[in-house]
Amino acid sequence: MTNINLNTQISELKGVGKTLSKKLNALGLKTVYDLIFYFPFRYDDFSRQVKIDDLKEDKNVSLVGTIELIQNKKSWRQKKYITEALVSDDSGTIKVVWFNQAFLTKTLQTGDTISLAGKVKYSYGQLTLVSPQYEKISQGKINTFGLVPVYSLSSNLTQKQMRFFVSQVIDLAKKIPEWLPKNLLENLNLMPLSQAVFQIHFPESKKSVELARQRLEFGELFLRQIKTLIAKNNLKKQAAFTIDFKESLTKEFVDKLAFTLTNDQKKAAWEIISDLKKGQTMSRLLEGDVGSGKTIVAAIAILNVVKNDYKCALMAPTEILARQHFHTLKELFKNYSLKISLLLSKALEANFPLEKSRKKQKEKIYSESDIIIGTHSLLFQKHPEKLALAIIDEQHRFGVTQRQYLSQNKQEKTAPHFLSLTATPIPRSLALAFYGDLDLSIIKEQPKGRKKIITEIISEEKRDQAYNFIKEKLDLKQQAFVVCPLIENSQKLEVKSAKEELKRLKEQVFPEYNLGLLHGRLKSQEKEKVMKDFLDKKIDILVSTSVVEVGIDIKNASIMMIEGAERFGLAQLHQFRGRVGRGDTQSYCFLFTSQEIKSEKTFKRLSALSQYHDGLSLAKIDLDLRGSGDIYGKLQSGFSELRLASLFDYELIKKTREEAEKIINKDPELKNNPTIKEKLGTWERNIHLE
Ligand code: ADP
Ligand code: MG
Repeated sequence: MTNINLNTQISELKGVGKTLSKKLNALGLKTVYDLIFYFPFRYDDFSRQVKIDDLKEDKNVSLVGTIELIQNKKSWRQKKYITEALVSDDSGTIKVVWFNQAFLTKTLQTGDTISLAGKVKYSYGQLTLVSPQYEKISQGKINTFGLVPVYSLSSNLTQKQMRFFVSQVIDLAKKIPEWLPKNLLENLNLMPLSQAVFQIHFPESKKSVELARQRLEFGELFLRQIKTLIAKNNLKKQAAFTIDFKESLTKEFVDKLAFTLTNDQKKAAWEIISDLKKGQTMSRLLEGDVGSGKTIVAAIAILNVVKNDYKCALMAPTEILARQHFHTLKELFKNYSLKISLLLSKALEANFPLEKSRKKQKEKIYSESDIIIGTHSLLFQKHPEKLALAIIDEQHRFGVTQRQYLSQNKQEKTAPHFLSLTATPIPRSLALAFYGDLDLSIIKEQPKGRKKIITEIISEEKRDQAYNFIKEKLDLKQQAFVVCPLIENSQKLEVKSAKEELKRLKEQVFPEYNLGLLHGRLKSQEKEKVMKDFLDKKIDILVSTSVVEVGIDIKNASIMMIEGAERFGLAQLHQFRGRVGRGDTQSYCFLFTSQEIKSEKTFKRLSALSQYHDGLSLAKIDLDLRGSGDIYGKLQSGFSELRLASLFDYELIKKTREEAEKIINKDPELKNNPTIKEKLGTWERNIHLE
């Protein structure tokens, strides 16, 4: 094909028809540029080309040989096609088999010289190469030799197809313009961008993958630092709402709480209050592990803002959590006659009378509420007048741009103060370097009386025993969660679905108890009812999907059962576990797996939970277990919006910070650095689309 360039649509590439381009689109790949920037998340190492005679069991190998014989057989029992071949080189002959690829006998013929890569196994007393990657030598060896890239793909797309597409366009990588300043590249010895992109897909060696990664990570972190520094400068220029500290009112509010604030909570609240009265827009991150009591700190800030006659918005990542905040704040402020409302995409509620029509309701919510609580849908609305404080709960669930959107008041010159709450465990030093535009408050201590949640992996034989134990707790009027990986049964996956599990538990295990079901597809009002029933103890066991992952606060729940635990990441499991142990009752977390644990990694990951109880230790373990191979691709850690490796790479963060400062100090608006400026623009647009 002639004239392909970086902007060419993928659908115009050779061999990409309508169906294929749809599948590629689904991965977010529309143009050649996208394809080139879709990086592999690991590599298969076929750099050892071996003679057939030297083959050993269980090794990844690459070999070149001639096909002596190739034929299809039909296995009578499984109705499967098996393609068998004999391939030889000057040292010997090996048997090769493929399953259900009958078309192979059309592509590969006796006499062809081919390159094969895969694992050697013993089968029927003979070394066999099972389902290897194959290529006719005349077509090159992108699939069968060297470090072969593995991409994260959805079903129906093969690695081979992907490599073929990338190989067709990779030469265009040369045309990708370098945007980092030349002297910076030279001083820091970074690989030029076009080379890095080429090496990421088709590396010469492990060393070159490493250098390419370093360069790409540097670029990404550097941009983030530039962005942060610019945001910080902008914030300084803006006028701010001045919020006076309502001292006696705050004292009274705190005194009437059912508990005493921890010292860390007091300190955090004080830091926020001091910021609010400064006359400069606050931008603060409140970090505290699951259950450390961030909500009440936010509530103290809200009270002060509202009593200064300004408004607050509070945003949560899920409807269920937004509803919970609505109820919590109504209860906390019940003696303060505040107008509080809940604004969800399909439901509007308030603790003051609303009109009939939705349009009017909304107007009233906007004009009258002191506090508006909502989900993402809040983002896309106009800001209410006099909005002086915007709070985002579980900040890590929102993208950077969303965060900015909320904190920037488009109509007025004054931006609201901004507070975000997160359980993402980042050490202070890193957070300062990383979220340089945000100030930081950290809650380290858990409220008094909290006990460690006893966490255990339960094998199938012990399942009944665990259920009996749980019944004893239920009989003491405690409550339990069951988390399942899916809503409905899937034919492909042998994992539990919430619906099936509910049925099974109800009929076979806990017939004398009340069970409820919660998942994201329930209607808003149904979710509300289930949560309310659980809170009112009308439900003993709540069977749910991962929608209970963040924020849910039911003090009386003391048991968390997680089904298919191997399918969740450590961060997620830690969050699930955080749903219990929020009072002073001893709580338990039981991990069930959908099959016997076979991989050591999985075992280590799950065992880490019984050993460690804080997010930071778990994040580190997660990083170790993943290894650095998983940096690219879709495997996000969940511990942060960042790729994990960069999160803990303090040196890299420091370096990018320094370099970014050098540039911004000299050239705050990037007038002399147009390439960085442009790159920043595209980068922000891309994040926005995520
Ligand atoms: P998170 O930090 O995970 O958002 P929450 O704010 O939901 O935690 O608080 C968890 C639970 O602990 C809530 O039920 C809250 O009322 C309670 N809580 C908060 N602070 C304290 C405290 N100082 N002492 C006892 N309980 C507290
Ligand atoms: Mg919370």
